[in-house]
Amino acid sequence: MDRIYVFDTTLRDGEQSPGVNLNIKEKLQIAKQLVRLGVDIIEAGFPMASPGDAAAVAKIAGSVKGVTVAALARANFGDIDRAREALREAEQPRIHTFISTSDIHLQHQLRMSREQVLEAAREAVKRAKSYTADVEFSAMDASRSEIDYLCRVLAAAIEAGATVLNIPDTVGYAVPDEFGEFIRTIRERTPGIEKVTISVHCHNDLGLAVANTLAAVQNGARQVEVAVNGIGERAGNAALEELVMTLYARRSLYGFNTGIKTEEIFRTSKLVSSLTGMPVQYNKAIVGKNSFAHESGIHQDGVLKERTTYEIIDPKVIGVPQSTLVLGKLSGRHAFKSRLAELGYVLSEEELKTAFARFKELCDRKKSITDEDLQALVDEEIRRIPPTFELKYLHVSSGTTVVPTATIGLTVHDKPVEEAACGNGPVDAIYKAIDKITAVKCTLETYGIDAVTGGKDAVGSVIVRVRSERGQTFLGRGISTDVLEASARAYIDAVNKIVADANGPKLRPEV
Ligand code: MN
Repeated sequence: MDRIYVFDTTLRDGEQSPGVNLNIKEKLQIAKQLVRLGVDIIEAGFPMASPGDAAAVAKIAGSVKGVTVAALARANFGDIDRAREALREAEQPRIHTFISTSDIHLQHQLRMSREQVLEAAREAVKRAKSYTADVEFSAMDASRSEIDYLCRVLAAAIEAGATVLNIPDTVGYAVPDEFGEFIRTIRERTPGIEKVTISVHCHNDLGLAVANTLAAVQNGARQVEVAVNGIGERAGNAALEELVMTLYARRSLYGFNTGIKTEEIFRTSKLVSSLTGMPVQYNKAIVGKNSFAHESGIHQDGVLKERTTYEIIDPKVIGVPQSTLVLGKLSGRHAFKSRLAELGYVLSEEELKTAFARFKELCDRKKSITDEDLQALVDEEIRRIPPTFELKYLHVSSGTTVVPTATIGLTVHDKPVEEAACGNGPVDAIYKAIDKITAVKCTLETYGIDAVTGGKDAVGSVIVRVRSERGQTFLGRGISTDVLEASARAYIDAVNKIVADANGPKLRPEV
C-alpha cells in the first residue's frame, strides 16, 4: 500500500477559525495529542503573526519528537527568517512558504506581475532552503490559477529546492473530477515534479474538501493538509477524521494507508473541540454525537443482531469509549491521575493539583463523574492562563417577581474585591457585577450552554465569545453543576484572556 502523509493544520488554519484564539498551553496540549494521533507533520503556526504565535511555534518545536514541525511564512525574507528562528529547536523542521499565483490575487491583492511573483517564489524557497532541507511551497489560490503559469512557478520552486509542493483550493471552489484532473495535469506539465511530494489543501466552502482531497490523492497527491473536526477559515478545511476513515473503511478500493492511530481520533476531536470552544455538530461524520446512534427500530434491531448490518465502522476503531462511569467521591489522586492519562492528558504537578481540587468539589455535587465530566474539568484547567481575576464566591437572587441581582467576589491579582449589580436576568446581573470589578471594556457576542452528560445532575458547560475593545474575539469556558457559576467562570475566563493578550490584532494570512 502507498503511504499518504498527514499534514495537520489544526494549530494554524484551524486556529484561524473566527473566534478561536488558543493560548500557548492549549496549543501544546493539542500538539502532544497530534503526536499520539500519529500525524506526520504538525503545522504549528505562523510566527510572523505575533510574538505570541512565534513563541508557541518555538515551544511546540522544542517539545515534540518524532514528527515534522512546520511554520508558515509568506514569500519574503522577514517571514522566513522568523519561521526559522521559531523552528530552531525542532527535531525535523519544515519551512512552509507561500505566495498567490491566481491573476485575481496578483491584480487585486498583491499588485505584482506574474514575473515578480515567480521571482519572489524562487527567492523565498532558496532562502528557506538555506536554513532547512525540508521546504514546502504553496501556490495560494492554485485552483483558480492559469495552469501553464502555475506549472512554471512550481517548476521554479522545485529548482530552488522545494521538497513539497502544495496545491491549495484556497477558496473552496474546486469540484472533485476537475480537481483530480488539475493535479494530474500539473504532474504531467511540471518539470522535476517526480522528485517532490505533491500536497493538497482543500477548503470546505461547498462541502467538498474531503472529496476534492481524495480526488487529488487518486491523481498522485501524497500529502494531505487537514484539520481535526474540519475547523479552519470560513467553512473550514478537509476534516482529518473523515479523510483518514474513508481511506481506512475503503482501503481495498483506494489501497492507501496513513500513520494515523485511529483509536486516538475520538479523543483528539473532543480535545480540539473543547480547547477551541468550537462544538462538533451532532450529525458530523465520524465524530458527531449521532455518528453511531441508531434511531430507527429496524436499524437498532439489525445492529443488535450483527453490528455490520448498519455500521460501516466499529466505534471502537476510532476510540469511542465503551463505558463511561468512572470516578466518584472515594477516588484518590492516583486513580484521578491514571484515568486522565488514559484519556490522553499529561498534566504538570501544579495543573494536577488544581484539577484534583476541582474534581473533589465536583464529587460533592455529583455522584458519578464520567469521562466527559473529567475532560471538561481538566480542559478548563489547561485553558487557564495565569489568571488576573478569579472567582471566589457568587450570590444571585432571581425569580419572576424580583429584580435579578448578583453579588460577586473575585480576587484581582490575589486581592479580594466585591461588587453587586442588577440586570434583566441572573446572567446579565452577574456579568455586570464582573464588569464593575474588572473594568475591562468588552462586549458579549455569543453565549451558549450545554450539558456535558445526560441526567438532571449533569455538569453544565458555558461557552462565551467576547469581543475586546481592539476588535479581537476570545472564547471563555466555564463548567459547574450550577449553570450560573459556569456562566461566571466562562466570562471571567474570556476577560482573563483579553487582559493576558498584549499582542493586539494578528496578521492572518490564508493559504
Ligand atoms: Mn487554508
